[in-house]
Amino acid sequence: MELYGIRGPAAPLASERDQNFRIGADHVLKISNGGESRAFLELQHEAMARLRAAETGLEWPRVAVSPAGEDIAVAGGHFVRLLTWIPGTPFAEIPERTPELLDSLGRALARVDLALAGLDRPAAHRHFHWDLRQAAEARQHLALLPEARRKLVEPFFAAWERVPWPALPHSIIHGDPNDYNVLVRGGRVVSILDFGDMVWSATVCDLAIALAYAMLGEEQPIAAAARIVAAYREVRPLSEAELDALYPLAAARLAMSVCYCAWQAAAAPENEYLQISNRPAWALLERLAALPEGWPTDVFRGRAAAREGLLARRRRHLGPSLSISYREPLHITHGRGAYLYDSAGRAYLDCVNNVAHVGHSHPRVVRAAAEQMARLNTNTRYLHEALVDYIERLAAMLPPPLSVVYLVCSGSEANELALRLARAHTGREGVLVMDTAYHGNTNALIDISPYKFNGPGGRGRPPHVTVLPLPGTGEMPPIPHDIAAFFCESALSCAGQVILPPGYLREIYGKVRAAGGVCVADEVQTGFGRAGTHFWMFETQGVVPDIVTMGKPIGNGHPLGAVVTTPGIAASFANGMEYFNTFGGNPVSCAVGMSVLDVIRDEGLQENARATGEYLMAGLRELQARHPVVITDVRGLGLFLGFEMAGEREATELVNRMKDRGVLLSTDGPRHNVIKIKPPLVFSRADADLLLARLEEVL
Ligand code: PMP
Repeated sequence: MELYGIRGPAAPLASERDQNFRIGADHVLKISNGGESRAFLELQHEAMARLRAAETGLEWPRVAVSPAGEDIAVAGGHFVRLLTWIPGTPFAEIPERTPELLDSLGRALARVDLALAGLDRPAAHRHFHWDLRQAAEARQHLALLPEARRKLVEPFFAAWERVPWPALPHSIIHGDPNDYNVLVRGGRVVSILDFGDMVWSATVCDLAIALAYAMLGEEQPIAAAARIVAAYREVRPLSEAELDALYPLAAARLAMSVCYCAWQAAAAPENEYLQISNRPAWALLERLAALPEGWPTDVFRGRAAAREGLLARRRRHLGPSLSISYREPLHITHGRGAYLYDSAGRAYLDCVNNVAHVGHSHPRVVRAAAEQMARLNTNTRYLHEALVDYIERLAAMLPPPLSVVYLVCSGSEANELALRLARAHTGREGVLVMDTAYHGNTNALIDISPYKFNGPGGRGRPPHVTVLPLPGTGEMPPIPHDIAAFFCESALSCAGQVILPPGYLREIYGKVRAAGGVCVADEVQTGFGRAGTHFWMFETQGVVPDIVTMGKPIGNGHPLGAVVTTPGIAASFANGMEYFNTFGGNPVSCAVGMSVLDVIRDEGLQENARATGEYLMAGLRELQARHPVVITDVRGLGLFLGFEMAGEREATELVNRMKDRGVLLSTDGPRHNVIKIKPPLVFSRADADLLLARLEEVL
């Protein structure tokens, strides 16, 4: 009243360093902290005036002039200013950030940066502890954090250290477009408040700071950030160096925030404002720490723009019989653990890629491959430790008399070789298989895969093949007396995640052997600990096969397969004709295979499959109890699970909607109505919870 001649109720507003009050409906009274200089306040006013003149499409506070003609008054030794109030809601309090809102934030930031470009005043060249260039100061407070949190945050500071500051354009920046300073009205950003953090710094820091806060609480933080970045770049293009620095700077801002919070909380435990963004910041840092290196920057660079072109180019030259998943195909660029990451910044919980057994791009597997590849890659015609070590290790994982190993490059090659072994050993052609089975993509294997020969484009069952009905669906035909082999998965994948009834294989193995045939366990999908209770699924049936075939998980994505058989069968096959496989058993593949076995052991993945599988199964059963009409059956063992839905339409719809919610699933079974769940074995309880929560939403 004394200074400005206005009167009204004064409500305190949160601030880190100043004292601010809302006065009546239209004004904010700002009492600066004792350390503020007049020149710096004048700079703030100049910046606001400049922004007002720049046609940013945004609103900016006006500075009231006191009856004494001052825009900066002095009271009690402090500078005092009165600004107009801009109505709106802080970005932080907007429950749903629409793409339009994110776009408007990106544009607003770019317009501010453009408007402030060219402005330079000595007052901006100050040492300011929130300036991203000064992150090292915040880093000093790391010691106040508990060890686990320190370890979480330190890599973000390490990445900040590599930011090439001289390569970044500098200007006076707003300095603090955090989610409480960004004002929203009518679904778009109308102003960015509080110029008290203005500083001469890298221009890109404003965008980085805004991203740090805009990501808080987002289900897909990088996708939200990418949206802002793309909108920003339409108004103010970013240089290569700025694009590279953006993500490390955004993450560094969060790291600074939690460090200062720890420091300030220790000094002033009563200031609540200090704590406001602390918990969400930790949650976000934890999410960011789990992301693959380089992915956010890739996304910010606009890799998604290639997506449409990719589909067209793929169609021009890739055989049309290769399908692509989902109505809207995914453009996955990175993988880590049980997650896949796309070019648009979305993370997906991967519940189907059973090849990435120990987790996508597991660092130990990657290192094993890279190191061996850098040293030597040849073939099995030379002596090499990697080959011998690996076949010893693999053979030791199987019950006797299974002890002779052949290394190949795929599940199909493994089954193809198994068929040759069985035929060489028995001198017969005939094969017994399960209905809906798939054993591989070669001519001979299509002939023993009802899934293919009875499916679209198939030529029906060849005369040498006998098909057994799925358990519980029909009469068991007599076992022919001229068969070479019985091929059977130890739990049925393509048939729709079917667990065989107890004693099933024991009975049929008995009949097959009595007829002179050999028993082949196709463990391509089911092996390597997925069953949880056992390392091999056949062990759950209490049988020992004559031949075991392996693929998919054995190399965690590296093309590797294996056949393990008895010395007797191997001897029958050794008829003088050499078996040579150019790539099978090469030192790189062996190093990879060995590292996969190491990781399964060292990370306790078989036990995780058992425990997490049990937990997930219980959750699925609960889901079925609540939705008995849509979910008609739940089954599985370990992390080999599935649930049956009323029909194919429901299953397809569910798979697509789950994808939209960041969870990858797929369908299987003769009626395509079974949702299969066979995630990487690193799948955690938290992952299971996420899957169940999303399923509940979609159902
Ligand atoms: N056997 C089974 C049970 C399979 O699921 C597959 C692949 N889906 C194969 C064999 C063939 O393996 P690959 O695709 O590696 O040739």
